[in-house]
Amino acid sequence: MTQDVISGGQSIHAPDNLKTLLQTILQQALTVNDGKVADYIPALAEVKSDYCALTVATLDGQVTSVGDATATFSIQSISKIFGLMLAMERMSDSLWERVQMEPSGQPFNSIVQLEWERGIPRNPMINAGAILVSDVLVSHYSASKSAVLSMVRGLCNRDTVCVDSRVHESEKDHGARNAALAYLMKSFGNIESDVEEVLDHYFWQCALTMSTEDLARSFAFLANRGKCPRSGNQITSHRDAQRINALLSTSGMYDQSGQFAFTVGLPAKSGVGGGIVAIVPDYGVIAAWSPPLNSFGNSARGMAMIRNLANQLGLSVY
Ligand code: GLN
Repeated sequence: MTQDVISGGQSIHAPDNLKTLLQTILQQALTVNDGKVADYIPALAEVKSDYCALTVATLDGQVTSVGDATATFSIQSISKIFGLMLAMERMSDSLWERVQMEPSGQPFNSIVQLEWERGIPRNPMINAGAILVSDVLVSHYSASKSAVLSMVRGLCNRDTVCVDSRVHESEKDHGARNAALAYLMKSFGNIESDVEEVLDHYFWQCALTMSTEDLARSFAFLANRGKCPRSGNQITSHRDAQRINALLSTSGMYDQSGQFAFTVGLPAKSGVGGGIVAIVPDYGVIAAWSPPLNSFGNSARGMAMIRNLANQLGLSVY
């Protein structure tokens, strides 16, 4: 899978060589000037557009970073993976009666398909699907937020991971479209709990703040058949890790998932905070952050960095 690219007689995967490569890739990404910082809530619109970070965490425990890799940012839709993990564990196969596993081909917050498909979201990586998953968590956990937070802290091994309460409140104040999705699903009988409680969980989860280093560490289990390489704990079954990676490959980059599969070839998830994580099975995780987004809501520089790295190291799973 990974090509052993040799530079000066040494593997490119040697820490110093990898760092040099990441530095070059980050510098090249800084010349990409498309994109616009998310402005649907004031708390995100204020983020400086020139933050840029790239981290690679490999399964042997090596973490190599360049740029603002310890600065924390709003992970937004990347949190959809955390919610899904808990819902899959709690609901097993019955979850898939309430949310599909198909790419949507629509923007992440689209409402039209949900009406046609009678309140069953296309997949758990679009907003409607993640709101459905939030309903599962609120309905099946006595403290759904604590369940997510303790899992996230354990995965990235940092007890100070928290939620930005300003972003959380701002999401609630500007959440009309997400509320519309939730109430539409409720009208079809696909939301069990109180809609406002479900939305509160969803907005809270979107407001988790983490760095690229936190994210790369957190998702290492997905590259390692469900087992955390640091602790040795089995986080999900191997089968569930495969299923999550399949969903990330087909839906993680929204209606740009096909192009991402074509040009990069890795399971990945983006968020409107400008973060992207990409899973490289049996190798590790790449996490990138740069706030300006392209028209699909994916980080323009983040995409460029991951594409460049995956192509240079031959990381495509296909
Ligand atoms: N909070 C955002 C929303 O609900 C998350 C979307 C995203 O990151 N793509 O619209």
